[in-house]
Amino acid sequence: MNLTYDVIVVGSGPAGSTAAWRLAKAGVAVAVIEKAVLPRYKTCGGGIVGRTIRALPIDLRHVIEQECRTAQMNLLPEGHSFTTHRRTPIVSMTMRDQFDFTLLSAAQEAGAVVHQRCALEGISSHDDGVEVATTSSSMKARFVIAADGALSTVARKIGTADGRILIPALECEVTAPQDLLDTFHGVSRFDFGWLSDGYAWVFPKRRHLSIGVLSMTRGKDLKSSMTRYLDRLGCGSVSRIEQHGFVIPVRPRRGPFIDKRILLVGDAAGFADPVTGEGISFAIQSGLMAAQALIDGQLTEKSVRQAYARTLAETILPELRIGRWLARLLYHAPRIRSWAFARHGQRLCEAVTDVMSGTRTYRELVFRPQSLLRLLTPHGDTKSGYQPAPPHDG
Ligand SMILES: Cc1cc2nc3c(=O)[nH]c(=O)nc-3n(C[C@H](O)[C@H](O)[C@H](O)COP(=O)(O)OP(=O)(O)OC[C@H]3O[C@@H](n4cnc5c(N)ncnc54)[C@H](O)[C@@H]3O)c2cc1C
Repeated sequence: MNLTYDVIVVGSGPAGSTAAWRLAKAGVAVAVIEKAVLPRYKTCGGGIVGRTIRALPIDLRHVIEQECRTAQMNLLPEGHSFTTHRRTPIVSMTMRDQFDFTLLSAAQEAGAVVHQRCALEGISSHDDGVEVATTSSSMKARFVIAADGALSTVARKIGTADGRILIPALECEVTAPQDLLDTFHGVSRFDFGWLSDGYAWVFPKRRHLSIGVLSMTRGKDLKSSMTRYLDRLGCGSVSRIEQHGFVIPVRPRRGPFIDKRILLVGDAAGFADPVTGEGISFAIQSGLMAAQALIDGQLTEKSVRQAYARTLAETILPELRIGRWLARLLYHAPRIRSWAFARHGQRLCEAVTDVMSGTRTYRELVFRPQSLLRLLTPHGDTKSGYQPAPPHDG
């Protein structure tokens, strides 16, 4: 069977489903191909930060298990602890099976054709379109959006330059006793410094806790860090613990992000936040941007290519560049981190909370007056002797 569409989206995570939703709404003939059948478990904290909720015009209320208006951020070896509060949720807690299913259903209701249990196996690009071979049929489209996650088969098959940094992260779904659930009710907790170059987190869900650790260094075994963390939280003896591991791309591909009528979005492009590892925001943002470039470019190769490259260069890419610079300070400069938290900890945590909430961007934090750059530069602090070179803007 040979099916023909305007656009084929590979993968129905947040990037793929929102792209398909936007295209279908605009009347574009779009199909989503997905190797799994949704709803399915996905290794993820399921924390949807405020900036995502703000950017997403799809109703998610029924999949939000808990709203956290308080964030607790600790710097562990030093024993600093800071708490921030907001009127609107800083992080909304979901389980990805339901969250992803809601986004895919919205795309389907808008008119997208969905092929599940259908894995992409081959792809070839031509002057007038793209051919896709899947486990169930072959298909053709004028464009393909690669939203197939961190291990993207599409990017590998078409030979896109990589250059991403894929860091390990581990997630435990813990059926905790009620007193522990009460302790974390409405609070998202981040323990920086639990690993020398990473952090641990507790995200409260309706009836359990999602507890995770990540390291900014590749190839680290996180299992012992996780065991110690569970013990510290008082979850060591809990009998029902499910453990899952995966990778997060904290540096984008070298690009190009659109080539041969194929647009890369989300983790396939390497668009997770380098400071927090949070990837859903930029997955959704890039999915929507890819769709908009196709719509504005009227499915014409040159116009679409220019529109997508321009919009990424003006928005996500500079944000990630500055995020990487901040992440280097946070995870790879322990003396400056310790100095900065001791002196300005509350302001730093308020700043990170603003970014998560979507009220400020990393660019605004660094380049506006009273910026982080000033806070993080220990003028006259001869002990540290550290002067971070400012990142390039744009
Ligand atoms: C332990 C852990 C915790 C995390 N916690 C958070 C968090 O709390 N908040 C947050 O924002 N981010 C978090 N992230 C990151 C987040 O999970 C990802 O950044 C996000 O899922 C990226 O979305 P995506 O749509 O690009 O890709 P994905 O969500 O990975 O979706 C890709 C889809 O493509 C499908 N697919 C893959 N290959 C094929 C193929 N060949 N053919 C057809 N379909 C295919 C997959 O089945 C999948 O459905 C976490 C990551 C990890 C590892």
